Amino acid sequence: SAYAIGIDIGGTKIAAGLVDGNGTVLVRGRRPTPGFDPAAVLATVCELVRELGPGGAGAVVGVGAAGWMDPEGSTVVFSPHLSWRDEPLRRDLERALGRDVLLSNDADAAGWAEYRFGAARGEDNVVCLTLGTGIGGSIVLDGELRRGRFGMAGEFGHQVMVPGGHRCACGNRGCWEQYASGNALAREGRSLLAVHGPVAKGMREAAGNNPHAVTGELVNSLAVAGDEACIELVVEAGQWLGLGLANLAAVLDPGLMVIGGGLGAASPLLLETAEQTYRSSLSGRGYRPFARVVGAELGPDAGLIGAADLARNALG
Ligand code: BGC
Ligand code: ZN
Repeated sequence: SAYAIGIDIGGTKIAAGLVDGNGTVLVRGRRPTPGFDPAAVLATVCELVRELGPGGAGAVVGVGAAGWMDPEGSTVVFSPHLSWRDEPLRRDLERALGRDVLLSNDADAAGWAEYRFGAARGEDNVVCLTLGTGIGGSIVLDGELRRGRFGMAGEFGHQVMVPGGHRCACGNRGCWEQYASGNALAREGRSLLAVHGPVAKGMREAAGNNPHAVTGELVNSLAVAGDEACIELVVEAGQWLGLGLANLAAVLDPGLMVIGGGLGAASPLLLETAEQTYRSSLSGRGYRPFARVVGAELGPDAGLIGAADLARNALG
């Protein structure tokens, strides 16, 4: 069928959509993620597929999830944020759904969607980032999604930027996503809340002394509202982001870098700062073109649109 089903499994919600060949989402569904019990996730995905209705009958299913997949799109080998370890998710889903399934990394799926239908249309060499809990990454070179020998290319979030720095969910210290993701901003917001001085007044009023209320979005929205301490935190994160972009440009030489994910979409200040830092840190600057740095276009649908398209291409 011309339709494919895309599923985006995140830490808080699972989103599903029936997607046509132009990347248009015709029907949507969503559920909270039922913890990380693989059986409960499986059951929820099956319910969502059924809920998409008769248009999705028989359609192939692409799943994007925040895990490191094997190159065949069969097994979630590892995930920093989720409890899957060598999880044969594709086999289990195919059995439960009675149709073909392909697994993709969530950021690979989102980046592919931006390349096919969004901000990166027409540019064949693209790095796309998703800023949220972590930093997800994807690489499109010469019009093709590059997954690497073991399926794990583009894990930019775990390049070590600060040896011995903040502990990362992957087990290492000092990874990029500890400095420039939504979670990184949340951690800095909580440390601001903890100082009890006038500098934290805005944060205290917003979070009511509750560290759990401090999210990356909250820090960003306080910055947008003019809170100086939060502006500083967003600028700092943007500088870390830009430094990483310069590293990526040194390695991959993209024509375009797309910044998406919840935080990426919400913060022009973060993007502007990142672009400035990228431009002032790029090796060989002054003698080589700069890649354009732009926000993503497809918003929270990117992951499921890309997962569906990748599945259609591989299995359809
Ligand atoms: C994971 C990636 C994922 C990203 C965004 C990172 O920590 O390593 O696989 O794409 O978070 O969810
Ligand atoms: Zn890491």
